Amino acid sequence: MEEKLAKFKALLQDMYDLRSASLLLIWDQSTYMPPGGADTRGRITALLDRLAQERLVDPALLRLLEELEPYAASLPFDHDDAALVRATRREVEIMGKVPPEFWSEFSEHMAAAYQVWTQARADNDWQKIEPYLEQTLEYSRQFADFYPGYNHIADPLIAYMDYGMKAADIRHIFAELRQQLVPLIEAIRGQPQVDTACLHGHFPKDSQLKFAEEVIGELGYDFKRGRLDLTHHPFTAPLSVGDVRVTTRVNEDTLTECFFPAIHEAGHAMHLQGYNPAYEASPLGYWTSASVLESQSRTWENLVGRSRTFWSHYYPRLQAYFPDQFKDVPLETFYRAINRVQPSLIRTAADEVTYNLHPMIRFELELALLEGSLAVKDLPEAWREAYTRDLGVTPTDFKDGVMQDVHWYSGAIGGGFQGYTLGNILSAMFFEKALEAHPEIPGEMEHGRFDTLRNWLTENIYWAGAKYTTIELAQRVTGKPELDVQPLMRYFRTKYGEIYDLGHWV
Ligand code: ZN
Repeated sequence: MEEKLAKFKALLQDMYDLRSASLLLIWDQSTYMPPGGADTRGRITALLDRLAQERLVDPALLRLLEELEPYAASLPFDHDDAALVRATRREVEIMGKVPPEFWSEFSEHMAAAYQVWTQARADNDWQKIEPYLEQTLEYSRQFADFYPGYNHIADPLIAYMDYGMKAADIRHIFAELRQQLVPLIEAIRGQPQVDTACLHGHFPKDSQLKFAEEVIGELGYDFKRGRLDLTHHPFTAPLSVGDVRVTTRVNEDTLTECFFPAIHEAGHAMHLQGYNPAYEASPLGYWTSASVLESQSRTWENLVGRSRTFWSHYYPRLQAYFPDQFKDVPLETFYRAINRVQPSLIRTAADEVTYNLHPMIRFELELALLEGSLAVKDLPEAWREAYTRDLGVTPTDFKDGVMQDVHWYSGAIGGGFQGYTLGNILSAMFFEKALEAHPEIPGEMEHGRFDTLRNWLTENIYWAGAKYTTIELAQRVTGKPELDVQPLMRYFRTKYGEIYDLGHWV
């Protein structure tokens, strides 16, 4: 058995090393590659991805997997070998069922759709992208057909991002959240708005980067096992447990576009620097799902990085970095400005409260499209109706409406959005548990100390890598085998009840 296990791990390692090589090329493409490299780079990453995909369906690997399964079944559930075999089976089930011809046809279509979308979005030209989206919907339905026996046609697409979660469960959770969130947002809208003038002005690029770099280092992002670079759309590249790179961008007119994405990505990165190193180059050396992944970026970006305790420590330093801008602005004004709640059209620019409605609207539309109860041609109108109903704002064009996100124009319809809101729900569930275990955490944050929180997160979430599914992890951490919207709502009501003086309401 020892020998088989060693061979099995070696095959997996090759596959993950290929993926890592591909990711390094993508990181380079998004940071330093000269524009002339684009065509060749696309070809090379496609080759590496194909080689990795071939390894996943390699008969030698599948045979070993089958032979190891009885051994894994004889071990305790949380034994590393049992988890490795389980996670590999999961990966084979999800990725291995789709024929390579489908992948290549689908990727070709998506590459063409993406090209058309970038131009069509700039031109606000829905008609141009509509036939591509029709085709994407058709492919998304075909994708589901590779997994017969599903309850809802979106389930196989959701499994791809959030294994173990089902459309019906997510619908239920979202309905509950919407029911509580919409009245809270309405109550906030009825109050005087906070002033955000202090966030706009001139913020030199070098100072913004230096401040962000200092802060994420102090939060616990390990620069000996990572680096920070500039890009257009911030992302994290987990190349290995010893090399997890983060990126951000800078807009000199505002402070928030560099700092908050930097903390967000550092949150992802601390998660991925924190798994058990023995899991590297295996299905366990990863995040377990889009929602758990997102829960950790949101923990650091919002629960920590937009808290009063955090800024009571960092605001004097921010003032020292940008004296002209902030020397006469009290901490309280700044704190309210970075926490303004304002329903808006664009998901990526939304505040932490209204944000949750954006993915929920998309999820509901995706299900309707996949079910066939909504036609692609009626999507823009359905989008407008949903925004008017939930957020009280109505897009007047396509580019700030149905064409704003890259997801549907670069990948399948279904599964790509729910993780953002589920991640927020999870972040609050986990954070509440951390505070229960360590009530001293806020006091430490006030003094710029984050190790108690980080160690708790590492011990309870990061160290496990992809060993447990979302629900298994929620069960282990909170004792409940389900997602609960109450911690998030409690957090919102306490924080925003105070900022917007909702005493009579909350
Ligand atoms: Zn993220």
